[in-house]
Amino acid sequence: MNTDILIIGSGPAGIQAAIYAARRKVDVIILGKLENSSLAKAHVENYFGISGPIVGIDLLRVGKEQAEKFGAKFIEEDALHLERKDDKFIVKTEGGKEVESKAVIFAMGVSRKKLGVKGEQQFQGRGVSYCAECDCGFFKGKKVAVIGDGSAAASSAILLAKYASKVYLISKKLSTSEHLQDELKVGNIEIIEGKRISEIYGNSAVGGIKLDGSSLEVEGVFIELGSKGVIELAVNVGLLPDPRGYIHVNEEQKTSVLGIFACGDICGPPLQLAKAVGEGCIAGIEAAEYVKRISKLEKQTV
Ligand SMILES: Cc1cc2nc3c(=O)[nH]c(=O)nc-3n(C[C@H](O)[C@H](O)[C@H](O)COP(=O)(O)OP(=O)(O)OC[C@H]3O[C@@H](n4cnc5c(N)ncnc54)[C@H](O)[C@@H]3O)c2cc1C
Repeated sequence: MNTDILIIGSGPAGIQAAIYAARRKVDVIILGKLENSSLAKAHVENYFGISGPIVGIDLLRVGKEQAEKFGAKFIEEDALHLERKDDKFIVKTEGGKEVESKAVIFAMGVSRKKLGVKGEQQFQGRGVSYCAECDCGFFKGKKVAVIGDGSAAASSAILLAKYASKVYLISKKLSTSEHLQDELKVGNIEIIEGKRISEIYGNSAVGGIKLDGSSLEVEGVFIELGSKGVIELAVNVGLLPDPRGYIHVNEEQKTSVLGIFACGDICGPPLQLAKAVGEGCIAGIEAAEYVKRISKLEKQTV
């Protein structure tokens, strides 16, 4: 299979890039599974024009239909291998397909680091969250715990303190800037250091956490341990992620490798829908312009 632009990742960033690129009349193939997008299980209420909460998978399905209407082709398979061959990129999918493309857009998102304790998976979306910015509004007047050691955990605790009645910030050893340490000195934030969480418990939703044998009653658990990027494909084409695992791009969503663009969560925080689609829009436009430019040059040299 040949295409002008191959988009790896069918979350909001990839789908938005597909819409913009396909409308510029270049061939677009987009790989990935809608239900694996971070957005799939989200209940969004902070996105422009949607008072929500709207279920993410519904947004993704509408986005896919839009992109298909403009000519983008979806292959619901993951990319397993990416390599550069001369001035083209070749991707192999899990189903054995091989796609050759002039440009590639990375839109693989990130997977949040898990705490790995009993109850974490069971209560995900029912009190366990990986995004304070997204879910703070659901915890007005409630007690919550934030788990993490760095600035992301501290910032989440500060934000949640504006909504929740009480915020426990639980860390092995908190390490943040002086500025954040000052902001943490709010009446309803309590820092608990050096204790180990063994379980998140509850019935239909989170009821509390077990902490070194004792229990702490909370209705929300925010896990802020950072993100794990999907970087294997990037490294293979010489694209080195930054120390946090994110792909660096310029204001045109271009990476350091000619012909490869990136957008969405994979480019770093804020890990938010609005940013993902904004970057997807730019990546789609810039990739289409790039392909048109190189196609014109190819014709001139024939
Ligand atoms: C529980 C939850 C709630 C959230 N709530 C909100 C909210 O209320 N408001 C808000 O603004 N944001 C929210 N977010 C964040 C938002 O969902 C993300 O910022 C957004 O989805 C990022 O879009 P993306 O396209 O960059 O990545 P993703 O949506 O994660 O999509 C990445 C896609 O790439 C695919 N992929 C990965 N690797 C490969 C591969 N090798 N081959 C092919 N495909 C691949 C994945 O399967 C996925 O489909 C929430 C996130 C979570 C987890």
